Amino acid sequence: MEKSKALQFLINNQSFDPFRIFCIGKNYDEHIKELGGNQRPSEPVVFMKPVSSIVPPEDILFYPCYGAELHHEAEMVLLIGKEGKDISEENAYSHIVGVTLGLDLTLRDVQSKLKKSGLPWELSKSFEQSAPLGHFKAYDSGSIDLENLSFSCCVNGDLRQNGNTGDMIFPIKSLIKALSGWWTLRPGDIIFTGTPSGVGPLKIGDKIEIQNSDIGSFSWEITSS
Ligand code: MG
Repeated sequence: MEKSKALQFLINNQSFDPFRIFCIGKNYDEHIKELGGNQRPSEPVVFMKPVSSIVPPEDILFYPCYGAELHHEAEMVLLIGKEGKDISEENAYSHIVGVTLGLDLTLRDVQSKLKKSGLPWELSKSFEQSAPLGHFKAYDSGSIDLENLSFSCCVNGDLRQNGNTGDMIFPIKSLIKALSGWWTLRPGDIIFTGTPSGVGPLKIGDKIEIQNSDIGSFSWEITSS
């Protein structure tokens, strides 16, 4: 695979180098149910993807070189613009500089096997090109309501996921509070905030589109590797 160019996000004339990608698992009840679970987590479930796994919109997206069941997980994604440790819920939004949508691509068959064996999830979640990511839009609390933001995911034009951030188990404020208790959040940190129900398999040739009316529409087509 060709080495991709270094990515930078430009927001209000300020550029941000992606620093880390935090991902939140099990943040919507209906998604926990569809995967056969029945318990709400008592604190946010966190895993990470490498920054090198980001795929900008319209870039070539290859089917992974291992695994048999590639799932889309459409998610609302945040970009942190200001450093902070132990951030309060009241101050949480002031640390967000950008918002977009992304796909937490998951090799579900690999994940199921790892879960059964009590092993870490990296092989199922952190593979090459596992983080297709839309373009960030400057966050402005006047025009974007993070507590009531709808987003959708279509595959070949068929609606597969239709979520709203209002259904999160841990809303964005509490995610920032929790994450900043465990890590010092830094400019360039990216947070995938969890997926609503409707996840499902993808195959070579599929066109995936994620969309929100205020943020935009981003798409990728899966190519054979
Ligand atoms: Mg996810």
